[in-house]
Amino acid sequence: MKKKVEKALENVIIIDNRNIVESGWVKKIDFINNEIIIYLSLSNPAMHIKNKLIRNISHSIKNKNILYPVRIKIEIKSDPKIKPVIKNIIAIASGKGGVGKSTIATNIAVTLVQMGFHVGLLDADIYGPSIPLMFHINEESVNLQHKNGIMIPITSYGVKIISIGFFSHHGEAIVWRGPMVTKVLRQFLHETNWGELDFLIVDLPPGTGDIHLSLLEEITIKGIVMVSTSQKIALSDVHRSIGMFRIRSIYAPILGIIENMSYVFSKKTKDKSYFFGKNGVIDFSKKMNLFFLGEIPMLQEIREYSDLGIPVVLKNKDVQNIFRNISKNIINQLSQ
Ligand code: ADP
Repeated sequence: MKKKVEKALENVIIIDNRNIVESGWVKKIDFINNEIIIYLSLSNPAMHIKNKLIRNISHSIKNKNILYPVRIKIEIKSDPKIKPVIKNIIAIASGKGGVGKSTIATNIAVTLVQMGFHVGLLDADIYGPSIPLMFHINEESVNLQHKNGIMIPITSYGVKIISIGFFSHHGEAIVWRGPMVTKVLRQFLHETNWGELDFLIVDLPPGTGDIHLSLLEEITIKGIVMVSTSQKIALSDVHRSIGMFRIRSIYAPILGIIENMSYVFSKKTKDKSYFFGKNGVIDFSKKMNLFFLGEIPMLQEIREYSDLGIPVVLKNKDVQNIFRNISKNIINQLSQ
């Protein structure tokens, strides 16, 4: 019977076309009181990876006409190659491109460093990896120094950074199919020496796609931060993104939403003009039951420093305060 169960488990395939027996995930198979107990040991703690595995094992055992009840016990082991201790993984997402997602990811990361945290930033925006530019990193000169196959991130302004842009030349499109994207992302997450981090900020591509699904399947995300302008078109796409994160099988909690480019302030008239519309994001957040994390004005300095590769929070006190409040709100939401 044990052999039969083993054969069934050999049909459960995980990454790289290997099955769970040859990958060494199966530690022991027991029969107690007419019940099969399977002990597994794996390093990936993502909840729904475990659930999927349990489903696949049960299915495979039934397919072999083994009719005993099955109990699966999973122990989480740490990877001996690297011991990343990442306390909080937070993804920054938007519906549309160009709403300031990367600018916000950059300045939240630097703000958290200023607050005394250890911070990493993973730029997964395959359509426009702009983090290297925003951190003044010359992609051409990047050497990720593979040490026993483990990548070492580049540190800029105190933030440890890995970008999908490091794998392409400046001005070159990244044209990868889904499986390639998933492979690279997996390397970023599991084969990178992040060291101990309080926060890993992930800059996602806009919309809903392969990267989002892979990420949600690979790791346990503590929370998603949505970014939008108050424009109707931007909010309609955010609505779709939120729908994706709320699908039960890939669920990730949304910590809240940030309104970017809320208003333009005229120093002359002291008036605020609401270029993308007024209160759009606040109203939307109420409707969608989302926490409103804060608003950032449209400011020429934000664009200018961004282009110079200097995070604006290091230069402008008002903007620094805005990002401090937003970061504190994010931390509060995490503890809810
Ligand atoms: P996304 O990541 O959503 O595509 P980016 O962060 O790349 O957007 O921002 C798009 C452009 O808008 C960049 O040139 C950036 O400097 C500028 N930008 C972002 N937020 C602001 C802001 N609050 N005020 C002025 N310019 C901004």
